[in-house]
Amino acid sequence: MSVDVVVIGAGVQGSSVALRLAEAGRKVVVLERAVPGAEASSAAGGILSPGVEAVEPGPFYALCRASLARYPAFAREVEALSGMSVALRTLGTLEVALDDDHAKILAARAEKILGHGLPVEVLDDAAVRRLEPAISTEARGALFFADEASLDPRALARATYIAAARAGATFITGQVRRIVIEGGRATGVEHESGRIEAGAVVLAAGSWSLLVEGHGLPAGAVRPVRGQIAVMDTRPPLLARVVFSGHGYVVPRPDGRILCGSTMEEVGFEKAVTAGGLRHVLGVAIGIAPALERAPVVETWSNFRPASPDGEPILGPGTVPGLLYATGHTRNGILLAPITADAIAAAILGRPPPVDLAPFSPARLAGILRKAP
Ligand SMILES: Cc1cc2nc3c(=O)[nH]c(=O)nc-3n(C[C@H](O)[C@H](O)[C@H](O)COP(=O)(O)OP(=O)(O)OC[C@H]3O[C@@H](n4cnc5c(N)ncnc54)[C@H](O)[C@@H]3O)c2cc1C
Repeated sequence: MSVDVVVIGAGVQGSSVALRLAEAGRKVVVLERAVPGAEASSAAGGILSPGVEAVEPGPFYALCRASLARYPAFAREVEALSGMSVALRTLGTLEVALDDDHAKILAARAEKILGHGLPVEVLDDAAVRRLEPAISTEARGALFFADEASLDPRALARATYIAAARAGATFITGQVRRIVIEGGRATGVEHESGRIEAGAVVLAAGSWSLLVEGHGLPAGAVRPVRGQIAVMDTRPPLLARVVFSGHGYVVPRPDGRILCGSTMEEVGFEKAVTAGGLRHVLGVAIGIAPALERAPVVETWSNFRPASPDGEPILGPGTVPGLLYATGHTRNGILLAPITADAIAAAILGRPPPVDLAPFSPARLAGILRKAP
């Protein structure tokens, strides 16, 4: 079999990239070893928050903002093609201070963000509780990122896969063993039941990216960081907006479910929900909204963030011609899916990049990894 592009992995990155390339008329095959979208992309909280996650203005903040700006159109497109809703909610994000130290950190951040002319509102505790009456009376003000959003990642992962398939991408079940490099360039992949020749290969295998032979990345470029989530049920819905404290977050769904996250654990590929993990995420949630203490816990899960050494994604070409990366999205792979899709498609189609990818090139990694203790 010979195609224009083969994509390794059908998480949100692989499916979104395949969607864009199929729309551009390219023959695309996505190889997924298990179920499309069922790993990290279905386990996420679904927070789309450059303000909290990127912390300070810079290239990563700009990348996150560029992706957030694309979301309404991206969600509409995926919804129209798939016939599914991804439950995009644009109610904004709160980062609430529950002690004086965190209040000081937030005040300093607000000054920096506002100094760059970027959007954030500083709320006192009365204003916080006007927005979200269930928030703890311990609150000492908050930052409010009013134009931010959340969505249902499980729905997004499934809908993006369906959308890409409807746009013409072919999904094949199969574990990719090796990226084939011939004459110094990537010419295809070997998977469990054969070989596929391709003009370009996109590595979008998330936390498992370094297990694919021929990946061309330095050791430690991507590692799994486990995150646990517990879901509570509130009736009527106790909260509407995503709320971060200094230690974690809650993500309310419109039906009253509230996702409580998350842990950042270096435990390799051990998928487990632990007593300690639950204590942490439930404690964070109850700290934010004490009434959650009485809410039933209805679901729990864990999965792995594909973590890069600096927490920023690995995007675009590296040193092997024909091999491109859409991996290492760490905590923000849901947020960054639309810009990843546009950037990788542009690189393959020879179109101008939507953003400068240099800060996210794999070339930066060797330096960071050398400095690591
Ligand atoms: C608990 C938790 C909470 C999170 N919350 C948020 C959030 O609120 N907002 C946000 O933006 N991000 C969040 N993230 C991060 C986000 O989920 C990830 O960054 C994103 O899903 C990564 O997408 P992906 O497509 O690279 O990875 P994945 O979804 O893991 O997809 C990779 C795919 O590659 C397949 N694969 C691997 N190896 C092979 C192979 N050799 N051959 C074939 N297929 C292969 C896998 O089976 C998998 O389906 C969270 C993550 C976790 C774990």
